[in-house]
Amino acid sequence: MKQRVFHIPVFVPHKGCPHDCVFCNQRKITGQIEEMTAAKARSIIESHLETIEKYNDRGTYYAEIAFFGGSFTAIERESMQELLSLAHGYVLSGRVNGIRCSTRPDCIDDEVLSLCQSYGMTAIELGVQSADDEVLTASNRGHTFDDVTKAATLIKLYGMELGLQMMTGLPCDTPAKSIETAKKIASLSPDSVRIYPTLVMEGTHLALMHDSGAYNPQTLDEAVALASELVSIFKEKGITILRIGLQTTDGVNASTVKGPYHNAFAELVYSRLWRRKIEDDIMAKSLHDTTYEIDAPADKISQIIGHKRENAEYFKHKYNIMLKLNHKK
Ligand code: SF4
Repeated sequence: MKQRVFHIPVFVPHKGCPHDCVFCNQRKITGQIEEMTAAKARSIIESHLETIEKYNDRGTYYAEIAFFGGSFTAIERESMQELLSLAHGYVLSGRVNGIRCSTRPDCIDDEVLSLCQSYGMTAIELGVQSADDEVLTASNRGHTFDDVTKAATLIKLYGMELGLQMMTGLPCDTPAKSIETAKKIASLSPDSVRIYPTLVMEGTHLALMHDSGAYNPQTLDEAVALASELVSIFKEKGITILRIGLQTTDGVNASTVKGPYHNAFAELVYSRLWRRKIEDDIMAKSLHDTTYEIDAPADKISQIIGHKRENAEYFKHKYNIMLKLNHKK
């Protein structure tokens, strides 16, 4: 039986974040989101475990408590240790398998990694965003790509799983820079990556830049096309892609953000990959005015046809080719 993987998300807002990345709305939502306490975290973990344990016999799942939201390794030490101690208890009892967190690359050093390791931390995800220092500066990240390289190396030295997150469409960014970022990220051999197109959230500096005309977000089509190229780079290296694009569960929706938001962004990206694969074959065989047959596993049918039959229509209009799917179980 295939082991199912669960991340139990515990959102830890980083009230004291000394940075102000142009795209981040943490300052705006600070005060609206209550501080995470051990008691609240316990209740979140228990409610997730209720579901996880109901549908999975012991041993058929891999669950990690995931401290996401801000820069976990930079929050006040006392509350960090309180949360880690709680999570460690779940690991020791065998109800969860590990602990992961997200943080900034310049908030990683020997001291904090030793501490995290002593509480059973298994994975750390770093917000890289870009490998281009000009983009990092324009986004007011407050760190360089060199900080990413050092932190990634150190995390691996401590034997922890490494996750790297990147963004596309940041100020001063270009598709070529994003592709270069993906290649540099891949060369750090992370276990997993996340890809997020930049969205303009209310109350951010990026929203002001957008309103003044100083920043233009990617179109949805541009963001999908670029993300599909990045996915190819990571897939080629066998790197797990944990997430592509923000979702409504991240507190965003089409009415609250501007930019390339779509509630099924990842599906659009995988659908674009199918389009590229089929088109490469069509071009290689110089096909047109015909029917193109393709074996379609049941769970890939909608990706192959495309959202709202986008791919089917694309091949019909461009090559007068009809897609014919041979359904496979
Ligand atoms: S470091 Fe993270 S929490 Fe702080 S402003 Fe940047 S994105 Fe937001």
